[in-house]
Amino acid sequence: MYWADKIAKEIVASGKYKPYWVDDMKTPSGRIHVGSLRGTVIHDLVCKALLEQGVKAKFTWVFDNHDPMDALPVYLEKEKWSKYLGQPLFKVPSPDGKAENYAKYFADEFTAVFNKIGCQPEVLWASDFYLSGRMNDDIRTCLDKTDQIKKIYEKMYKKKLPSDWYPFQIVCPKCGKESTTKVTVWDGEKVTFECLVNAVDWTKGCGEKGKVSPFSDKKGFVGKLPWKIEWAAKWKIIGVTVEGAGKDHMSAGGSHDIASLVCEKILDYPTPYPIDYEFFLIGGKKMSSSKGLGSSAKEMSEIIPPYLLRFLFTRTDYKQAIDFNPMGNMDIPDLFDEYDKAWEAYDKGGYEKLARLDSVSARLARTYELSQIDKVPEKEKGFFVPRFRDIANYLSQGFSLDEIVGKLADAKGGKIDDSEMGIIEERVKYAKVWLENYAPDEYRFEMTEKIPEEAEKLTKEQKKYLKEVVKVFNEGDTPESLQISLYELSKQLNVPARDAFAAIYISFIGKTHGPRAGMLLENSVGKK
Ligand SMILES: [Zn+2]
Repeated sequence: MYWADKIAKEIVASGKYKPYWVDDMKTPSGRIHVGSLRGTVIHDLVCKALLEQGVKAKFTWVFDNHDPMDALPVYLEKEKWSKYLGQPLFKVPSPDGKAENYAKYFADEFTAVFNKIGCQPEVLWASDFYLSGRMNDDIRTCLDKTDQIKKIYEKMYKKKLPSDWYPFQIVCPKCGKESTTKVTVWDGEKVTFECLVNAVDWTKGCGEKGKVSPFSDKKGFVGKLPWKIEWAAKWKIIGVTVEGAGKDHMSAGGSHDIASLVCEKILDYPTPYPIDYEFFLIGGKKMSSSKGLGSSAKEMSEIIPPYLLRFLFTRTDYKQAIDFNPMGNMDIPDLFDEYDKAWEAYDKGGYEKLARLDSVSARLARTYELSQIDKVPEKEKGFFVPRFRDIANYLSQGFSLDEIVGKLADAKGGKIDDSEMGIIEERVKYAKVWLENYAPDEYRFEMTEKIPEEAEKLTKEQKKYLKEVVKVFNEGDTPESLQISLYELSKQLNVPARDAFAAIYISFIGKTHGPRAGMLLENSVGKK
């Protein structure tokens, strides 16, 4: 049986966890990594599997927009943004100057991607939980029971907490930072706090001291529970009964253990059904949004079709790691091939015939079904799917669309019909993206040995930019980090990014456009 079906069956059979309310969350601290979609899809699949069990179920997604900005993403200028470090993300301005705030900007970007791949949870904002006053009862309970919460922490971590430790973080009324403050007294009405100058090493506090109410209301957000405790409080106020997390949070003695104990012993609410899922890795390494390692969810949604991005998560059991790196290898063509295999299993009626059996084709067919964004397509007679890697191959050899269709008709041994034509056109579109930006060297543009003639037409600005390019190389650059440095350099020199990158392409391959400049330079300069 497919894993999400197994989980849904287990939840229903337990008789607990009613009403079925599935929830997941994320802090929108910058461009959200593609790996974060794993949690979204897992929760979405469990919710859909519950609905298929004939029960009512709901799926919500919380953006923790009230968390502090604790690091600057590489694509933001330090000078402009570092003053916001330590402040709640929904108080920081949007990087595009248009969205309501910083958190909203990145949350909306991520929401658009998960909507595109068929996940439609109701989106909730953690700041609203506080501003509406809904958190206040639990804040009072937690502050009143500080000693009991301390015992939970101390037992779990086997070390003493300071005598003036309180489970609350104030937003400094003077400097607006929440990462720098420390609460030292709770008198039943107000907390005494201090904004410590050197509380953290990435931003400074202002030294303010005072006494304030910890209860937010419509007038403003005054502070928050520490996140492990807050996790439990959110379960309670939303009414969550099913919520998982990546295994780093779920290990023994980890954040989920603390949240469960606080939930049951302090807040008197049952811990939701936990789903403990494995990591998403990029080329064997853990993803890192702040270092720019790997791709953002948005970027990935532009290089493969929505059903394939969904399939990337549905095809793997939640207990197994996903290792995916679109850059410079065959991971994308391989993913298409696997999808086609699942499609074929479905088309052969694998799921209905074999649903009761734990066979590979039954699971594959179910995976195909769950990867569809809208309704599952009708089954076709005489199944033929043009392979992505064949199309990419033909394109890299310079074949036209007509020639490609001819070759595929030969492979099929018959005329290409309308639905097959639709698939070919879609795959041609994505194969072009792959060839230009992600394919291994052997599929890509040939580098020219001497400087192309076109280089003579470069503008003064472009020449200035090229002169500086050499300075942005660093030991250990990845094509992606290099791409970002190249982009930043264009901003620094006030050369429009388009002209700057054109300068690179013209002088390296004699064209005004080409593969990602970071990849191009990494390949050509790295080899010389
Ligand atoms: Zn302060």
